[in-house]
Amino acid sequence: LSSLTRRISISVLNNYISEHIMQAVEQIGIPTHFLKRLNDREQLIRKLEIIPVEVVVRNVAAGSICPRLGIEEGSALPNTLVEFCLKDDVLGDPIIAAEHIITFGWASADELDVIYDYTLRINDFLTGLFYGIGVRLIDFKLEFGRFYHDQDAADDPVIMLADEISPDNCRLWDAQTNEKMDKDRFRRDLGGLVEAYQEIAKRLGVSIPDLDQ
Ligand code: UDP
Repeated sequence: LSSLTRRISISVLNNYISEHIMQAVEQIGIPTHFLKRLNDREQLIRKLEIIPVEVVVRNVAAGSICPRLGIEEGSALPNTLVEFCLKDDVLGDPIIAAEHIITFGWASADELDVIYDYTLRINDFLTGLFYGIGVRLIDFKLEFGRFYHDQDAADDPVIMLADEISPDNCRLWDAQTNEKMDKDRFRRDLGGLVEAYQEIAKRLGVSIPDLDQ
């Protein structure tokens, strides 16, 4: 039973995929909270003060932007679109402008500049990384936080990428068929969720002990 449970676990797949991507993002010089994967389901991460903003990056129109702006799913956008949402479940994570972030002090203008720069670099890098394995990076969500080297020191904190990057918070479509290889398989009741996440892991060259066939 334990091997069956492990075999079908989306969380295990996300853990290994996110480890792989976070390490790759570190290698292009963007600091992340990721330190190491401890086991199938746990990772050691730096403790950050989370900035309460979800950064959504869109290369192709899909998901919530389609009904919101009356755009057809699958339309390539003429440029990368970065949207911000306030992380607040009670309010339903409302979309906000950069001005709201600065006005209400969720991040400073300087912090927002760093976040925006990191976000575009991550998008360029991941778009290429996924295209190289036959996958289109349609959109994804990032979160950032502040790392204090020394809680008592007056040093400015370092902005770091937080959360995870996995098929749970990215839209990934097969480049040949446009088949969905992400959480939308679950959201839209398409089935084949585990197989799709396993295929992403396989194409990325992520090795998962016992799950490898
Ligand atoms: N997303 C996420 N967490 C959220 C909201 C969105 O990871 O709370 C990701 C989602 O997986 C997609 C992108 O951000 O890759 C854009 O999501 P969208 O605004 O279209 O909302 P959704 O259709 O996912 O509700």
